[in-house]
Amino acid sequence: MTENAEKTCLYCGRGDTDTPLVVLEYRGTSLRICPQHLPLLIHDPAKLIGKLPGAEGLSPADK
Ligand SMILES: [Zn+2]
Repeated sequence: MTENAEKTCLYCGRGDTDTPLVVLEYRGTSLRICPQHLPLLIHDPAKLIGKLPGAEGLSPADK
């Protein structure tokens, strides 16, 4: 996985010139997600399967 060099939202791919990005430290790498998609990580991480390695092991905060 080499995408950590890119400063883009892991979900939509927008860069930090288009939107603020929240930096996530995860599995020894840094990932970024925009505020628009941060709720997915919190409430619906299943939507990140295929975008975020290991997303299938994450649990929604409200379940
Ligand atoms: Zn996004």
